[in-house]
Amino acid sequence: MPTPLVAGNWKMNTTVTEAEALAASLRRELDGLPGVEVALCPPFVSLERVARALEGSSLKVGAQNMHHEDKGAFTGEVSPTMLQGMCQIVILGHSERRNLFGETDELVNRKVRKALEVGVRPILCVGERLEERQQGREEAVVSQSLSACLDGVASPDGLPHGMVVADEPVWAIGTGLAATSEQAQAMSALIRRLLADRYGRQGAEAVPVLYGGSVTPANVAEFVSQPDIDGALVGGASLDAQQFAEIVRITAKTRSSPLVRLG
Ligand code: PEP
Repeated sequence: MPTPLVAGNWKMNTTVTEAEALAASLRRELDGLPGVEVALCPPFVSLERVARALEGSSLKVGAQNMHHEDKGAFTGEVSPTMLQGMCQIVILGHSERRNLFGETDELVNRKVRKALEVGVRPILCVGERLEERQQGREEAVVSQSLSACLDGVASPDGLPHGMVVADEPVWAIGTGLAATSEQAQAMSALIRRLLADRYGRQGAEAVPVLYGGSVTPANVAEFVSQPDIDGALVGGASLDAQQFAEIVRITAKTRSSPLVRLG
C-alpha cells in the first residue's frame, strides 16, 4: 500500500505573510512525522516563500492548478516549468476549477499528462454533484470522468508512477456535510478497480486514493481506516495549523495498523 498522503488545499486564502507563518507552524508540528506524507498547497503567490519555509523538512509543497503549456500568451496562467523545482505536487481538476472556471475532463487530462511529464505529482480530483448522486449516477459519473482524465496517462512501463487520485464529492466540499465512510470507501474501491483495469493490480495498488470533502480531526479516522482510502485532501481545516496537524497525526496513527484491500 502507498504511504498515506494528507494535502492541505488553502484555496484563495492567506496573504504571503500568513502563508509563510502557517507553513512554519506546520513544519514545527509535523516535520519528520513517520508514516505519512504531507503537502501544503498555498496560492501561487506564496509558493516560493512556503517552499523556503519548508526547505529541508519532510513537508512538501503543492500548487492548486497549472496550465498545460510550457509558456506563451496565456495571461494570468502559471506553467508546469514554473512549478518544477519548487513544487512536488499539483492539484488538478478540483471541482471549483471545473464548476467556476469551466475546466473539462479533456483539459484536466492534458494537465495531468503534462504534470507527470515534468515530474510534478498530480492529485487528480474527481467527484459527482449532489443531483447526480440523488439520481444514483455517482459511479457512472466518476467512472467516465476518471477514464477521460487518465486517457493516455502511463509511464513507458505502463504504470501510472506519481499519480494520486482524490475522490471529492462536490456536495461534500466546504459544506460541513462529509460523505459517510461507507460512501467514501465504495467510491474509492470503484476508483481502485478502474485503476486496476487500466494499469493492473500492481499499478492500482501504488496510487494513493484520497478522500476530500469536509474532513476534520473528528471524522478523518473513519475515512482513513477504510481499506481503499489512503489519505485526505483537506480544504477548510487545513487553514488551522492545530486542526490540520491533528488530521495528519490521526492519519499516520490510523494507517499504521495493517489494512487489507477488499477488491
Ligand atoms: C477541497 O477544497 O478540496 C476540500 C475538500 O474542501 P473542504 O475540506 O473545505 O471540504
